[in-house]
Amino acid sequence: MNEHDSERMLALLEECGYQETVRWEEADVILVNTCTVREKPEQKAYSILGRFQQLKEQNPDVIIGITGCVAQQRGAELLARMPTLDFVLGPGKIHTLPEILRDVQQGIRGICSVGFENGYPTDLTIPSSQRLRAYVTIMQGCDNFCSYCIVPSVRGRERSRPSNEVLAEIDALVQRGTKEVMLLGQNVNSYAKHNPGELTFHQLLAKIDAIPGLERIRFTTSHPKDLTEELIEAFGRLEHLCEHFHLPFQAGSNAVLEKMNRGYTREKYLTQIRRLREVTPQISITADVMVGFPGEGDDDFTQTLELVQEVEFDGLFSFKYSPRKGTRAAQWRDDCTLEVKQRRLAILQELQREITLRKNKRLEGTVKEVLVEGRSRNSPHRMMGRTRCNRIVNIPGGSEILGELVTVKIDEGLQNSLRGERCR
Ligand code: SF4
Repeated sequence: MNEHDSERMLALLEECGYQETVRWEEADVILVNTCTVREKPEQKAYSILGRFQQLKEQNPDVIIGITGCVAQQRGAELLARMPTLDFVLGPGKIHTLPEILRDVQQGIRGICSVGFENGYPTDLTIPSSQRLRAYVTIMQGCDNFCSYCIVPSVRGRERSRPSNEVLAEIDALVQRGTKEVMLLGQNVNSYAKHNPGELTFHQLLAKIDAIPGLERIRFTTSHPKDLTEELIEAFGRLEHLCEHFHLPFQAGSNAVLEKMNRGYTREKYLTQIRRLREVTPQISITADVMVGFPGEGDDDFTQTLELVQEVEFDGLFSFKYSPRKGTRAAQWRDDCTLEVKQRRLAILQELQREITLRKNKRLEGTVKEVLVEGRSRNSPHRMMGRTRCNRIVNIPGGSEILGELVTVKIDEGLQNSLRGERCR
């Protein structure tokens, strides 16, 4: 979602006549788009802003702003703390960016634009660059209040975008050459729950599936509590819906899940995974999990490991818990030491590495459809693309196959990617 917010701000800046540069020394405007979901990215944002202090001293005309969830959470306090900043802009106010830039150019500094407006902002701009894969926001905010999570405070309550707007945007993107869309929302499964008469999420997917020229549909993120049978069945029915499901489970122990206020049990989660695999045996499943939540004992952690072993995820995003001010969990004693968190994370990640490699090796000899996205990072003579199950594949070739859907025989399964040859 942050990446997409960056794209939206880039599009607004382009409309104001700015051009993107990869050298920040050349920039007239620098925006640091932040994340506050864990402590580490927040600290990183402050350190990046610290580096711009000298630049501002040398060139007082450069406009520097902080955006994203740290901006929303800390607000005007950031202006007092960092004199380098000209403005603070929260994710619910991105559309005010051109106005803010005009004000700053007229000498008004210290602007703080945060908060949320009723409903969904309707002035979303489609980034001008023609892109193969595009993000499309379908809803924002979250009503769930998981006890560790700051998102409902910094992104606001759930607001869903009208389906006709979503469909029109995707249609326009496809006309510009987009082949794959990633539908975004904090909890896409509860799409339109506050909009009576609106399509449900699986109905929206069916409409998107029927847009001529669109090859692939993906979405993120889902909540197990709101996963419906209709959505599971959509994977078996919709031609363009890619066989990849990101379904965070966060912890393998019911006691920890309850403290996290997640609203499901490990048994329910495992039943959902079984059902997804019954309907779509080839589906790839990834998840988020954290270790060291307050009160997580060795037994709880063992249950997390057992769940990972049982599901055999295709990929896992795993993190150490860090308290976020303003959440319920931040009031509890952070009783797992850093050493315990680090040890648990290392064990979990090692287990997942073995599973990922084993699963990638199993794909050797199979034939996959790959959407070619760009040059391989490892070799100038190879291109990189993704399977429908979201695995990265490197294949021989050059820019002539960029944007093509090609059929590839997988020769080698590696830790983080696959290698293959195009089938003639
Ligand atoms: S579902 Fe829970 S973890 Fe996800 S954004 Fe909402 S509160 Fe945060």
